[in-house]
Amino acid sequence: MYESFIGLEVHIHLLTKTKVFCGCRSAFGDEPNTDVCPVCMGYPGVLPSLNIEAVRMGCMVARAFNCRIPEKTWFERKQYFYPDMPKNYQISQFASPLGQQGSVDIEGKISGKYIQKRVRIKECHLEEDAGKMIHTGTVSLLDYNRAGVSLLEIVTEPDMETGEEAELFIHQLRRTVRYLGVCDGDMEKGSLRADANVSINFPGKGLGKKVEIKNLNSSRFVKLGLNYEIARQSALLDAGKTIVQETRLWNENRDETQSMRKKENAHDYRYFPEPDLPVFVPDAAFLKSVDDAMVELPLERVKRMIAEYGLSEEQADLICEEKAEADYFEAATAEAEARGLSKKDAAARIANRLLQDVKHILSREGIEPRGIGSFRLGPGRLAALVSMSAAGKISGKNAKQLLEAVIKEDADPEVIVKERGWELISDPAKIAGAVKAVAETETATLTEARTADGRRRQTLTAYLVGRVLSATGGRADPKIAAKQVEELIGGNEGRYSTVS
Ligand SMILES: [Zn+2]
Repeated sequence: MYESFIGLEVHIHLLTKTKVFCGCRSAFGDEPNTDVCPVCMGYPGVLPSLNIEAVRMGCMVARAFNCRIPEKTWFERKQYFYPDMPKNYQISQFASPLGQQGSVDIEGKISGKYIQKRVRIKECHLEEDAGKMIHTGTVSLLDYNRAGVSLLEIVTEPDMETGEEAELFIHQLRRTVRYLGVCDGDMEKGSLRADANVSINFPGKGLGKKVEIKNLNSSRFVKLGLNYEIARQSALLDAGKTIVQETRLWNENRDETQSMRKKENAHDYRYFPEPDLPVFVPDAAFLKSVDDAMVELPLERVKRMIAEYGLSEEQADLICEEKAEADYFEAATAEAEARGLSKKDAAARIANRLLQDVKHILSREGIEPRGIGSFRLGPGRLAALVSMSAAGKISGKNAKQLLEAVIKEDADPEVIVKERGWELISDPAKIAGAVKAVAETETATLTEARTADGRRRQTLTAYLVGRVLSATGGRADPKIAAKQVEELIGGNEGRYSTVS
């Protein structure tokens, strides 16, 4: 067995309205080369200007990962040629990135495995994205809309050991930046991209030769790519061979990594301070604006919800996957509490409805979980439904139909229940009328029930209760109906005599 060391570099597109160094629109899916100007096209003599909103969002991520925000932060030019980067250099950060030396605890279950670990964050730095190359047969097309889009790179220390841990890190990072509202976390659209590096060595020998893996377009590929790479390198060491420091590409069709190039060292980029941008000094007002924009982070929220509402770890984790859903849950629970349910009872009932019925309906209607806030079944309506059901005002069967009706008709549950006559009859006198009528038509069953015992008696009782329920159109409260039927049969062991 070898020790393995995994580090990640995660790039996220910040959700700023404009690009990081010019006023061009920052949007995905626009007509190619329409969101461009001389600055992001790299014309000679143009001047970049820093988008403060991008710095603020970057600092929020830095705070979430417990990074230090330095007294001064600035930008450097990173020189390299790439056809999708018209300036032939990228404005990035090198000597004093906006977030430094942080750490984050990752915790949770991935592929059935519980993982808990502290991962050190080396830095978070702000830079501009490059454009996009589209290869079609013999020609390559360039779209510069993405050139200059705000990009935050989060770099970890090599503190992870398995593909599963790296997958969990990405999952948690994604959830965090979405909670903060600074990135949509959409890996398919490329708004969150990860590169991984991994080295293995004999135990106690420290880091080995670093291999970088690129093209990891999903958190699953991060896991697969890293585990493949650890196995490949282990086999090399087993065979007495050496590992080459290089960059490899993940081939998702063949489930393997392939050699791409030997790694350049950092000095190859010839970084130097960007002369056209002043040093940024975050003052007290700026730092306060960062703090004010912070929210409770997902992992903290999961823990609080378990303690406060008595949810299981799994329930809390599922509900907290999306901030909108967790907000919905807490609002609905508070409303149900206001209607007289205890906090834990309210929470348990809301959690069950939410995770079973509501999630199912959302996916059926093609509504993303984050859209739950603007859904017709608002938290107040779910709370009303749950409290009616808790108070025995509607049957379990009707509760489900009610949920559908609220969504279809965009109406309050109370109104629908009234209109449809779904409210259960809980007036004993009204139910007694139905019991009497059933007793008159079911004399033979009743006579048999009075002398039968055990199972037979139970069967006949259930049959008679069923008759009472159907005589009231399914609206009699089943508990009251059962009690009255038992009394009618009489002569039992007294099990029901305590119910008044
Ligand atoms: Zn521009």
